[in-house]
Amino acid sequence: MLNGKIAVITGGARGIGAAAAAKLAAQGADIAVIYAGSSALAAQVCSQCSSLHGVKARAYPCNVADFDAVRQTVTQIRSDFGTVHILVNNAGITRDGLVAAMSEQTFDEVLDVNLKGAFNMIRHCAGLMIRNRFGRIINITSVAALTGNPGQANYAASKAGLIGLTKTVARELAPRGITCNAVAPGFIATDMTKELSGQAAQLAAGIPLGHMGTAEDVAQAVAFMADAPYITGEVLRVDGGIAM
Ligand code: NAP
Repeated sequence: MLNGKIAVITGGARGIGAAAAAKLAAQGADIAVIYAGSSALAAQVCSQCSSLHGVKARAYPCNVADFDAVRQTVTQIRSDFGTVHILVNNAGITRDGLVAAMSEQTFDEVLDVNLKGAFNMIRHCAGLMIRNRFGRIINITSVAALTGNPGQANYAASKAGLIGLTKTVARELAPRGITCNAVAPGFIATDMTKELSGQAAQLAAGIPLGHMGTAEDVAQAVAFMADAPYITGEVLRVDGGIAM
């Protein structure tokens, strides 16, 4: 159980982030949802966490790619909640295209949100966790980081970078009682993959378990890592067996 713990979830307004917020709240954690544009959905996630589970929940607009904005947001969360115990770096974007034609801007945008965004959050939350001598950092990577994926050079690079970040942070912060792990989803039914829904049968054929996953499947792995005292630097696939 996570009673008394404060969890920050980036991109917590929808998809995997919203499911992770709901799952951590169900385990008793107070919830700070960071969102980019989905203010109504973020408010809805918070009100459901509070009404269903009796936890404190607040939403914060913040572009995780902006170092100073993240610093200000974490300062505000500290003032509202006191500290941070659990950080879920879930915010992510795709800007797919073949590498031979990919613009510099398209590459940078994805790296800035997916990789630098996670660094920004860890950079500004680590001090609070060190003071607590407790922390759980969970980075949402992707099986694309493990296998590569045509059309996703920027995305796979950002997610592979997250794995290196995860293992380094795990080693640096282990002596302070802080774990850092990655969760690597496969094909999960969310807004990010909705344009693939027409190819569901074809996709399913490549998945050993035979179907796409749900946001709740990933949230279960996030909650597991949030409560795991002796696992650090690990990458947990939630992919129906795609990348085994
Ligand atoms: P999604 O439904 O598209 O949600 C993405 C979330 O990221 C949204 O909540 C969005 O916030 C937030 N976000 C995007 N840019 C942001 C920024 N600059 N600052 C703050 N928040 C930002 O995607 P999802 O499928 O739930 O994906 C969640 C994570 O899982 C991502 O990191 C993704 O790469 C990873 N993943 C997904 C799959 C999959 O199959 N779906 C597979 C592997 C990995 P707003 O709603 O406020 O815009």
